[in-house]
Amino acid sequence: MKILLIEDEVKVSDFIKRGLENERFIVDVCYSGNEGLEMAYSPAYDIIILDIMLPGIDGLKILQKLRDDFIQKPVLILTARDSIEDKIQGLNLGADDYLAKPFSFGELLARVRALLRRSANQQSHIIQVKDLNIDLMTHEVKRDGYAIELTAKEYALLEFFINNSDRALNRITIAEHVWQYDFDPGTNFIDVYINRLRKKIGDCNNNRLIHTVRGYGYIMKTK
Ligand code: CA
Repeated sequence: MKILLIEDEVKVSDFIKRGLENERFIVDVCYSGNEGLEMAYSPAYDIIILDIMLPGIDGLKILQKLRDDFIQKPVLILTARDSIEDKIQGLNLGADDYLAKPFSFGELLARVRALLRRSANQQSHIIQVKDLNIDLMTHEVKRDGYAIELTAKEYALLEFFINNSDRALNRITIAEHVWQYDFDPGTNFIDVYINRLRKKIGDCNNNRLIHTVRGYGYIMKTK
């Protein structure tokens, strides 16, 4: 497990780094907001510990930027005990947890472990295709952060596309998998369902996931 620690106070960052390394975590430290923002985009890190008051870009701006760009990795913010507004703002911007300074190392460790456990559970059943998220456990669907209500069949259709993304699927294959009965190629009900699904997920010309393959069927493109 690799941790990115963005904290400019050397005493605090040394204390956290040493403690976490004793617990067999790998820790990289950044001492400025600008460097921290750049490193936060690296997929190498499983969690980010983020101080708010930093030279350069502050921690809240870093957090906002990450969430705007759909970087969903867990972020634990560090804040001075008296700045309750920072804490509220941080949670509103999508921080997963916060810790007020001064804190004990034991408390930090417990929170880091809880966030890592939570994200490991989530990662295993959330699939993301561009700005669309689908939760295979709860069947929640979100696009660009907004929840989308689908019927059971529409959901099944979407999940089938996602599980077979970047593969052209003909109408018969789709019908057999989603409706599990013999399909009459003379009907257009697959097209009707797909158009309804497209509407619900906001698929339009410049932001399209499900593409028509002329004379064949459909394809969900992830690139
Ligand atoms: Ca600071």
